[in-house]
Amino acid sequence: MQSSNKRNNKLHLLKICPVCGYDKLEEVPYDEYGYPSHEICSCCGYEFGYTDSHDKKGFGEYLVDWINNGFEFKWKKDMPPVWNAEIMREQLKNISKVNYKPRIPKK
Ligand SMILES: [Zn+2]
Repeated sequence: MQSSNKRNNKLHLLKICPVCGYDKLEEVPYDEYGYPSHEICSCCGYEFGYTDSHDKKGFGEYLVDWINNGFEFKWKKDMPPVWNAEIMREQLKNISKVNYKPRIPKK
């Protein structure tokens, strides 16, 4: 009989931005094979399938730049009524819920 205790390698495919933790994405940013949605995160502006492969910026690197540049919420229409460092840091905790494996084309 197959063991059912194989959960530790399970990918968590949620509509959460792996850069800033924004949890109201329209789609899951990377599917189970690592293919990107090409959605642009309303919050940090990371484009899944472009910022990663074209700009060659990883999630962590982009996050540091975004915070250092004032963590501007890109799409004002999606911005919560209050947006500040405290709320941003709270949102970052969502990152731990996901573990995407983006498929980056190698040169
Ligand atoms: Zn984001």
